[in-house]
Parts: sequence; C-alpha cells; structure tokens
Amino acid sequence: MCNKTNDDYPLIFQLGSHMSKKGVLKRLNDVIWNERINTSEFEIEWQGIMDEYELNDNKWFKDMFSIRDKWIPAYFKDCHLLGLMGKTSRCKGENYFYGLMTNTKFHLIEYHDHFETTKEAQRCLQRKNNHDPRYTNPDTKTKLLIEDEVSEAFTRTVFFEIQKEIIASRLTCYSIKVEEYDGINKFNIKDNDKDVKHFGDFEVSFMKSDCTVTCSCLRFKLTGCLCRHCFYVLRMSRVEHFPRKYISRRWTKDVVSRSSNAYKMCQSPKNDANEDFKSMIRDIYYLVDYCVDRLVSDMEKLKLYREKLREMIQDVDEDTRNLQPMTNT
Ligand SMILES: [Zn+2]
Repeated sequence: MCNKTNDDYPLIFQLGSHMSKKGVLKRLNDVIWNERINTSEFEIEWQGIMDEYELNDNKWFKDMFSIRDKWIPAYFKDCHLLGLMGKTSRCKGENYFYGLMTNTKFHLIEYHDHFETTKEAQRCLQRKNNHDPRYTNPDTKTKLLIEDEVSEAFTRTVFFEIQKEIIASRLTCYSIKVEEYDGINKFNIKDNDKDVKHFGDFEVSFMKSDCTVTCSCLRFKLTGCLCRHCFYVLRMSRVEHFPRKYISRRWTKDVVSRSSNAYKMCQSPKNDANEDFKSMIRDIYYLVDYCVDRLVSDMEKLKLYREKLREMIQDVDEDTRNLQPMTNT
C-alpha cells in the first residue's frame, strides 16, 4: 500500500492532475491574460477558480498568487507596456524559425553557416511581408474615415486588431451616462460583448481641445492600440480623423526604414563625410530599396531590374577604371 502524500510527488505532477480538469486552463487563461480586468476583479475571479476546482490547498497556486503583482498583467495597467505581452509569443516564433534550420549536432562552422542562411531567409520574408501593407490596403468594413486612416498607417496585423475594435465600437458599445466639466466629457460605456460583459462598464474621458481620449480598460497603455470604447466616444464626439498622437510608431508600416542600413552607415563616427554626401548615400539606398520592395512579388521584373543594375555596374567600372582604391587609413 502506498503511503505517500501529495507533498512526496514533484510539484509538476501535482499540477498536471489539476490542469487536466475540464475547463480549468481556459478559466485561468481568461482571467490572467485579460487586458480589461482590474486587480480586485482578478482576485475575485482567481478565488472563484480556486474554490470551484478545489485548488485552495495547492502550494504552486498559493505561491503564484502571493507574487501576483509581479506577473499578472492587471497589476501593470499603469505601465506603458505597448504590446510587451505579445513579445513572448514573438520570441517563440523566432526560436521556432531558427529551430527549423539548425540542430544541436551542428559544429560551430555549420551552425554559423545555417544561422546566416536563416537570417537571409528572414530578411527576404520581412521584405515580402513589408510589401503588401506598403503598397496595398486591406478591405475596410465600415465607411469610417478613421478605419481608412488606420489601414494606411499601421501594419497589416495591427490594422486587423484595431479594425476589430472599430467594428465592436459600433456593435457592442453604448453610452449610459455622459457628464461634462472643465472641458472634459466623461462617458460611462456599457460593452455588450459576451467576452467582456462579466467585467462591467468602462469609463472614457475625452478632452476635445487636444483630442485626448482615455479609457478605464487601459488597452492603449497595454497594447499601444486604442480600444473599442475610445472609438465609440470618438465617433459620438464627431471626431472623423484618427488622432495622430495614438499612432504608436512601432506598429506602423514604416517602423523599419527602407534605408536603415544606409542610415546606420552614415551615422558611423568613422565616416567623416559631409551632410550632402550622407544625404546622397541615403537617397541612393532608399531608391534601390524602394524598387526592390515594389518588385518583390514579381520575379521577372526583379530579374530585369537586376540586369539594369549590372549594366550600371559595368558603366561605373568603366568610369572609375583609373581611380585609386579607397583605403581605411
Ligand atoms: Zn476601453
């Protein structure tokens, strides 16, 4: 007969048996990774889950709860995270990509070679990913100017996230009270979305003089994207244009400059070229990058462009045949 208690088993096994209970994982994810919940709502929800699934005596959950202010997003609402929460998944994506092209049995040289190949593959992928948002616009679902402006400014993925909020602002939000004082309108917004219903109403402040809009859900601080409640208030306040102050550069199409490599080169302290020269170099890199970006989805046109560049190289070689090579000294 086995006399072992729970404490004799490694923690991970104790946890596994709880995590396999139907629905517990989803309930935990919903309450932990919830950008709209506040700290007291989190604690009530957490306790509800502990009671329902009989987890109150579990040491791991007790420990995790005791350090909740160190890892639960609801406790970081006053910090500008601007999408930091999503970074873990992006890192996982990077690791997966490198994992596809390397393995632990590689020698250093092999690893270096594959690493370089992977980086090149990623640059090519990035160029392709940059192409569509730069030169095409996705379908908009509303006739609002704001949605058009969002599609022009933001990357495709971020646009779809914001588009969801714009649509939800028309479908699930309505105002239950508006008060005005000192030039600030305070709206109490009800959100009927079943995913957020549990967590109640939201308060949005709007200052017309400088188009400042803030919401108690603090989604902008957390993700860098305005929430549906703010879009609702902007529409009610007859604001037609997307307020530029809420365009987080990191989510825009042009966050990676086409001529970033040239720019870095020209910023190098070793380079003592004058400003005109630096500007000229940047322009040249920009023009080449621009052409490649525009042609990236058309292999035949890319080949023609490459041929033209090769012809130009021949001309350049001809023109510089008698010049002394540049040295670093
Ligand atoms: Zn909100």
